[in-house]
Amino acid sequence: MTSPAHNTPTHNTPSDMTALRDAVATGTTTAESICAGMLAVTAERNTEINAFHEVFAEHALEAARRVDSDARAGRPLPPLAGMPIAIKDNVATTLGRTTCSSRMLENYRSPFDATAVERLAHAGAVVMGKTNMDEFAMGSSGEHCKWGPVRNPWDSSRVPGGSSAGSAAAVAGGMCAAAIGSDTGGSIRQPASFCGIVGLKPTYGRISRWGLVAFGSSLDQIGPMTRSVRDAALMLDVMSGIDERDSTTADRPPTELAKTVERPIEGLRVGIPRQYMSDANDSEVNAAVNAAADAYRALGATIVSVELPLTDVGISTYYVIAPAEASSNLARYDGIRYGHRAQLQPGEDLFTLYARSRSEGFGPEVQRRIMLGTYMLSSGYYDAYYKRALQVRRRIKQEFDQAFTACDVLLGPTAPTPAFGFGANSDPLAMYLCDVYTVNTNIAGICGVSIPAGFAERNGKHLPIGVQLQANAFEEDRLLRAARMLERALAATTGAHAPKA
Ligand code: GLN
Repeated sequence: MTSPAHNTPTHNTPSDMTALRDAVATGTTTAESICAGMLAVTAERNTEINAFHEVFAEHALEAARRVDSDARAGRPLPPLAGMPIAIKDNVATTLGRTTCSSRMLENYRSPFDATAVERLAHAGAVVMGKTNMDEFAMGSSGEHCKWGPVRNPWDSSRVPGGSSAGSAAAVAGGMCAAAIGSDTGGSIRQPASFCGIVGLKPTYGRISRWGLVAFGSSLDQIGPMTRSVRDAALMLDVMSGIDERDSTTADRPPTELAKTVERPIEGLRVGIPRQYMSDANDSEVNAAVNAAADAYRALGATIVSVELPLTDVGISTYYVIAPAEASSNLARYDGIRYGHRAQLQPGEDLFTLYARSRSEGFGPEVQRRIMLGTYMLSSGYYDAYYKRALQVRRRIKQEFDQAFTACDVLLGPTAPTPAFGFGANSDPLAMYLCDVYTVNTNIAGICGVSIPAGFAERNGKHLPIGVQLQANAFEEDRLLRAARMLERALAATTGAHAPKA
């Protein structure tokens, strides 16, 4: 592993959001200058990187100026005062459009803000723009987007990962202070890994899904994509907590992890699932996990080997449950109730209108998932596929519970490889395998985070590698404290741009 000497994604390594916020609060800098700086980077880089499809420059600057005048007047500032945050385009905002990077919703304007967005705004954050994604959050590369492919700021000949591609690229490229993404099977953690940032998939029910366009409702979670673990803690604190508009939110108060995240865990037990250290992973990926394990040992943690034999069946289970739920969730886009409406010729009937609207509005991957899901839910196949997948789902959760009796957190790769080139995984099955280490977190409803842990070198460029930590449901405190311990230890050896606290 090497340090990023010659290519870095940003012009100068930016501070994390916590540091920026503190600098505004103490008057060292102004929210306006932070915002203007990020808008300038965006203006310079977005044409190439294509992280955003809409940027609300004036809105962001005005909000930043209001924060500055509050600061000058000595009024207390909320925790994210003036921080420009990028929002994945499947999260509803009244500002701009919410397109899911699909022709189906290309002109959709939401009449309401998602709860997560509302809570960010309440904490003083500024919605800076909407980020590009794989259509309806289906994908692992950011290539399948109505607004064109997103590029990786570390090497623009490679993908940023997906589906929260634009959010990851915007954070890594210095275009915003932080972002939110959504994770149904890895879409926060895998692009975070490819782009060298922190990506947290919270426990199912931790953050309201109200206003998140549904893909796989029993798997979807919104989460932070940030430059540091403490930023992820801060954003989770702001967004988490019960919401009466989403009956699947857990009846728990918002987290208060920003207070505890710096505290190392005494006697931490880190489990490495044997099945995660596959020879099929790129060698630098396994080396990064081993280096992370060494760093934990040096901090006094115990490393234990654990077994997760159902790791391999995660992908097949996920690709039954997620398409089944998607086929039902996406039934509303028929050109009548929602979405793109096709032109009819005189004499053509309603059925033709539905079929043509959906054929024109959805891209090939979304159509593939709808067909798969519809097939697997049809009578005669339901028991063979869907019911079976639900049984395996239960076993996967039990297997995690068993593993967590031997350790506090699990450590492993986030993805089997670093960022790949455009078109490298054009076979859908090859693309699906990118998520082998992330889907089970969602299937089991537990929490996981990817943090930068080193680099691979390809054609003279440094490509970030992330490692993933997972913890049991509602163990985000443990998860993020363990992640912070590792981040602090690795920052010295990898040159990863974590803040020095
Ligand atoms: N890559 C996975 C998929 O295509 C996961 C997507 C996600 O987490 N939104 O479904």
